[in-house]
Amino acid sequence: MGTLEGAVVVVTGAARGIGRAIAEEMGRGGAKVIVNYAKSQGRAEDLVAQLREIGSPQARAIQADVSDAAQAARLIEEVLNQFGRIDVLVNNAGINIDRSMKNLSVEDWNTVIQNDLSAYFYTVKAALPYFMQQKSGKIINISSVIGQMGNFGQANYAAAKAGIVGFTKTAALELARSNVTVNAICPGFIATEMYEGIPEKAKEAIVARIPLGRVGTPQEVARAVRYLIVDGDYITGASLNINGGLYLQ
Ligand code: NAD
Repeated sequence: MGTLEGAVVVVTGAARGIGRAIAEEMGRGGAKVIVNYAKSQGRAEDLVAQLREIGSPQARAIQADVSDAAQAARLIEEVLNQFGRIDVLVNNAGINIDRSMKNLSVEDWNTVIQNDLSAYFYTVKAALPYFMQQKSGKIINISSVIGQMGNFGQANYAAAKAGIVGFTKTAALELARSNVTVNAICPGFIATEMYEGIPEKAKEAIVARIPLGRVGTPQEVARAVRYLIVDGDYITGASLNINGGLYLQ
């Protein structure tokens, strides 16, 4: 795409963490950023105010729980109504409910699959006709190293995140003829509230396993998103690892 200037960029679950850092990176580059949030209206509005100051005067927040197909479709519709186009869709919203399978209920399984995998399909499905008509666009799906290597107590999360990679490859194949690229990013452990939720002892064990000796920052993921958008025209169906060497393939 060459530049972020004026691009209409939707980031799901952008009120905090990695999504917020992506929104900020996009805003600094002059994109028109749509901050999607499910419940955190205050944080989303704060972010929009900040984005308007740093280079995204048209930034705005749109509430939608993207794990609901109708709300995901409404999100895309509102973006199109207000901006007339959509250039980049970043599927970032995600949750985790961690329990070993012995204690993992069917509901815990379904909730995570719905939020972390089905939601990605819902937004892409809704945006698909516009991307195909436009004959341009970039879709970036935030997966996780956990989808590649598995993790004790995360069967639901690992399955969803691995599913995102397969979904990304298929979407890349189907959309290539429309000049739309679709890529996944697989972050390792990144210092956000999701990571802070991990018990201290487990965090020490995690850092000990990371060859670069530290967890990543949300900004490091955001810069990779920027790279795929600005300089990634010939990259599609790829999974970009940002994990400090935690999982080498
Ligand atoms: P986070 O919990 O800090 O932020 C996630 C945001 O998504 C929250 O604001 C949450 O409210 C929102 N969200 C969740 N479900 C939603 C829904 N259905 N509709 C709209 N918004 C919703 O998490 P994070 O660490 O910033 O993670 C962002 C993404 O990166 C997730 O997909 C996560 O799985 C992935 N990831 C995180 C890490 C990590 O170590 N932090 C590592 C690999 C991948």
